[in-house]
Amino acid sequence: MNKCIMALFAHADDIEIKAGGTLLKYKDQGYKIIYVMATNNMAGSDARKSAVYGQAPMPPDECYAVRRKEACAAAEILGTKPIFLDYPQGGYHKNGIFKGVELRFGSEAPEKINCEMPSILTAYHNKECVERVTQIILENQPEFVFTETADHNTEHYSTCLLCQHAFDSALKKNYKGILLSPSIPRRPFMIPPDTYVNITDYIEKKIALLKIHESQCAEWMLERLKDQAKFWGWACNCKYAEAFSTIKNGLLQ
Ligand SMILES: [Zn+2]
Repeated sequence: MNKCIMALFAHADDIEIKAGGTLLKYKDQGYKIIYVMATNNMAGSDARKSAVYGQAPMPPDECYAVRRKEACAAAEILGTKPIFLDYPQGGYHKNGIFKGVELRFGSEAPEKINCEMPSILTAYHNKECVERVTQIILENQPEFVFTETADHNTEHYSTCLLCQHAFDSALKKNYKGILLSPSIPRRPFMIPPDTYVNITDYIEKKIALLKIHESQCAEWMLERLKDQAKFWGWACNCKYAEAFSTIKNGLLQ
């Protein structure tokens, strides 16, 4: 096992929202961070910002480039470079024609998308896609792997499954790490946390990390994230915390 943490999340900024404080803290303790992004982020143009401020959403190609740049800058603060799996977002037409792709805001499907690649919604069914993530785990032997919660967002859900399948496959090859998912307060589908990380000294750094995702980051979101960290802090007797539930523990296999 290496002094290493891997984070595999669906969209640019998910890593920072859900585990940013923990990664910053462990990075300072000498951990290497493996930062893996599952989707190509083409459809994810500042929905939250647009809704609040009435800004026009970015076209998919621009969104791809901007969010990639933001992810690289955030990863740099975590002392690492992102691994982009680049699975297309939304639905996927079985003939590789993008009629079925649900790129939000009525955008045309960009030509750049690789038609041979399954979308993030089906990647966990695909042996090669699972193997690709398994290899990242085996090469780095992270002590902990963080991934999405199986929540109401289908891309989070399918990213979670992709990571779980890869983790299972790594366990069969003598890997002994622990897989955790973040807990979001006051959500009915939330699995109760069993792991808390005190991020009191890192809450402002976490907020600064999120601000790097300028295309996504709205002020009300930052306030909400602080509230959530306060909620978990209250649960574990500190000021601010992030909370996780253990999905699989390789030491118990
Ligand atoms: Zn997301």
